Amino acid sequence: MSLAPLPLSTKVTVLRGLGPARASALQEAGLDTLRDLLWSLPYRYVDRGSLRTLGSLELRGFEEPDEGFGLRPSPSWGAGGGGRSPSDGMESSIVTVLGTIQDLRQSTTRVQRMALTEVLLADGTGTLRLVWFNQPYLGRTLKVGDRLLAFGPLTMGRQGLELRSPQFELMGRGEETPWVRRFLPLYRKLGPLTGRVRQRLVTEALGRAHPPEEWLPLDLSKDLPDTLTALRLLHEPPDESDARALETGTTPAHRRLAAEELFAFALGVALRRAGRLKRRGLVVPTSPDLRERLKAYLPFKLTGAQRRAFKEIVDDVTSGRVMNRLLQGDVGSGKTLVAFLSLAMVAETGGQGALLVPTEVLARQHAASFQRLLGPEAGAMQLLLGGMKAAEKRAALARIASGEARYVVGTHALFQESVAFHRLQLVVVDEQHRFGVKQREALKEKGGDPHWLVMSATPIPRSLALAVFGDLDQSVLDELPPGRQPITTKLHRPEAAERAWEQVRRELAEGRQAFVVSPSIDPSDEGKVQLRDIQAMEALLRGIFPDEAIEVVHGRLKADEMAVRMGRFVAGAAKILLATTVIEVGVDVPNATVMVVDHAERFGLSQLHQLRGRVGRGAHRSHFHMISGSETERLQTLVETQDGFRIAQKDLELRGPGEFFGVRQAGLPQFQVADLVRDRALLLRCREAADRALALGLSERQMDWLRREQARLRLADVS
Ligand code: ADP
Ligand code: MG
Repeated sequence: MSLAPLPLSTKVTVLRGLGPARASALQEAGLDTLRDLLWSLPYRYVDRGSLRTLGSLELRGFEEPDEGFGLRPSPSWGAGGGGRSPSDGMESSIVTVLGTIQDLRQSTTRVQRMALTEVLLADGTGTLRLVWFNQPYLGRTLKVGDRLLAFGPLTMGRQGLELRSPQFELMGRGEETPWVRRFLPLYRKLGPLTGRVRQRLVTEALGRAHPPEEWLPLDLSKDLPDTLTALRLLHEPPDESDARALETGTTPAHRRLAAEELFAFALGVALRRAGRLKRRGLVVPTSPDLRERLKAYLPFKLTGAQRRAFKEIVDDVTSGRVMNRLLQGDVGSGKTLVAFLSLAMVAETGGQGALLVPTEVLARQHAASFQRLLGPEAGAMQLLLGGMKAAEKRAALARIASGEARYVVGTHALFQESVAFHRLQLVVVDEQHRFGVKQREALKEKGGDPHWLVMSATPIPRSLALAVFGDLDQSVLDELPPGRQPITTKLHRPEAAERAWEQVRRELAEGRQAFVVSPSIDPSDEGKVQLRDIQAMEALLRGIFPDEAIEVVHGRLKADEMAVRMGRFVAGAAKILLATTVIEVGVDVPNATVMVVDHAERFGLSQLHQLRGRVGRGAHRSHFHMISGSETERLQTLVETQDGFRIAQKDLELRGPGEFFGVRQAGLPQFQVADLVRDRALLLRCREAADRALALGLSERQMDWLRREQARLRLADVS
């Protein structure tokens, strides 16, 4: 039977063996077309070696194991066999077996009262016992006489060899012995659709699909398999595939599919950028006089890096184009001052600028430091917070609408419809990754087309910045203001926490202040983990420091109560501030010279680095102490380095971009195959290739492909 190849856009319903139940399971999972089905890759592969007869099974013992037995030959094989202790040879290994269920028993274990399911499997050459714990439903799934393909670790039990908790598939009665592949792809179960059925559908789809057109430029596609081949390699990996590369998603086949996604993404970004560069931006009229006025505001000499970054911003806002720039810099590198100067440039030339921050604490703090910098001009600054009283808010809105407020500092409240600006020319977003893309668009709509400066709280690698922020130019503050002393960082086990409190005592005796950070505890964690919550910590601190004024702040406080308590600490009336991560970003109290973080393992590395940045802001030597009974290796990174870029990189590798940026991060591209951390070098290459492709011009067909890919990956629209 020869059928015409099917375009990838064909509905999956053309596939054989797809009854209504299975079809609707696919549809519910969003797998409508062959493309959807094929691009939905196995989430894992099980390396199960080749199929073994039951009679040939033996536990790898003292003697040299024979080639046929070893599923994952250890690299030491053939190297003379020296150095392997007998117990090494007793490790269980994964085997795959196929047989008929001869006996099935269910019971309860005597000691631990666990449901026990035992199966005796036979295949004509021998028998093998299979056991499962606590899966009583297996008694309903399995029946004597069923043919079972099972794989799992072969171990020596009290009754001889057995497979413990093997994975299995039931084979149809008349079904031929399948050719058992070494790599079993595992798919997420979709309703009645078992992995086995899914595999059959995929195989059929692979066989009938028309190879898609080549969309990648040659410099990306050379050395890579074509698309359909790549899909086949990933759904039906040949036995000789590199197991590790399959597992880590680094085979050439993965790279092919990742490159297609990243190229589409990069092309979209490049198009948006080209669109922006065509728009006319407000030209800020600079002059030597303006320069002098700005200088007069500066409390200190700019660092070289601050000067460079500011110059890049000035170039942007005088270029006639719309600025879209990311200002990156490690904690304490002085991003705020650069932001202030940029806003002042606009405010001094008849425009309005807005600074957007994630929390009210920060908003108040920035407002206060702007007022200080502005001196007699402080009246030009207006704060806008969600928690303001009605009358106060009305007055603030009026000042913003009339243009009397030339500097506006605020939180999410700035996105509200009732906020109208007079001449909004520049928006600076602090700690941007907490704002969603939609909110950015909302603000953009208010002011026509203001210049846009994003400050990243956490330094992130360039490729990530590109992926997360898209079309942004970057300025990097790679230099700290002079006179900074490195922050002494220590990690203590809970038993040794006294060392941390001693440090706090010493600092307080010197007239300094201290931060203590407790993790905010998710109610769902309660009972599961032994955590000291903020109340317990407060009690502890009051016990250790009975004579010190302690303030406690956390996310559930009302905004004004929070402001009062923070205010007491900032003013020096309170000596210890016990907080959850509400103080993570930006809080600036130079007299605080020590921070203790309890349960440090609950935090991301970058988050800890941010926290650490709350001390070491004044002239005095500062200290950062972490208390943790676990994950000491990961936390050690902070002891070893103070380089925020390195820490961010490590953190990303450990947690992945989703976690790193927080689950609520909107606008992170949703790739199916590409991984922003693993494929970062590839992303940079795709970006270059996209610029080249755009310079050559895109055909209508390429645009169609791009739109489809952007839709598939739910990337921002391309116009
Ligand atoms: P971040 O980049 O973490 O936002 P900040 O802008 O809060 O850093 O600056 C950190 C501290 O350094 C602040 O106390 C600020 O006043 C101070 N600072 C900023 N720029 C300079 C400079 N050029 N010289 C001296 N101190 C500076
Ligand atoms: Mg800051």
